[in-house]
Amino acid sequence: MGKYSDIFFDLDRTLWDFETNSRKALEQIFRDFKLEEYSIELAEFVEVYQRINEQYWKYYRLGSVSKKELRRLRFTKTLEHFGLRDSVLGEKLDGAYLDVSPYQTVLLPETKTTLDYLAGKYKLHIITNGFEEVQHIKLSKSGIQPYFDVIVTSEKAMARKPDSLVFNLAMELAKTRAMDSIMVGDDLQTDIEGARRVFMDQVYFNPDGVEHNESPTFEIKELKELRRII
Ligand SMILES: [Mg+2]
Repeated sequence: MGKYSDIFFDLDRTLWDFETNSRKALEQIFRDFKLEEYSIELAEFVEVYQRINEQYWKYYRLGSVSKKELRRLRFTKTLEHFGLRDSVLGEKLDGAYLDVSPYQTVLLPETKTTLDYLAGKYKLHIITNGFEEVQHIKLSKSGIQPYFDVIVTSEKAMARKPDSLVFNLAMELAKTRAMDSIMVGDDLQTDIEGARRVFMDQVYFNPDGVEHNESPTFEIKELKELRRII
């Protein structure tokens, strides 16, 4: 019997390939709204949107725009880049993007083989910041929902990682303790610091080799390394 009985996973960018899925969703709305008829080119549309979206998330984190403004403006500003001033279309694109995104099914490399390997040995769970319905659609459409016992979203917990409330609720529902558990996630603040606050060991999933000064219990570049370390 190993040290751990329960493994808690983050979802976005840890198992579910957020970047690829986001691009696929953008491609779908581009086609659905026939944006080529406005002389917009797909590759440039994706590139411009991603740049503007990133910029607005930065403003959001600094507190200079609200979530509502971010959602209202990121597509409208993208259209403006192409000389199209149409905030109604911009908001429609945002709604459509949020609708189709969770239905994308691309997982990060080795997600299923790793979960297959771990499933017989540990109880697996999800702790994710996100909306209940959206995160459940992602899990079920990508085919990994059956691997997980407890799924805690920030909406369900009424708090967001790194808040200890979220981790404590997840452990309570999983009927486990921090000393028997480990958290796997790609975010040093929400996942790693969050787990540390409740004295749970952590695996920092760092595929891009981001430099940092934190000291997670373990650090991996690929999910399959989990087999080796726990
Ligand atoms: Mg994540």
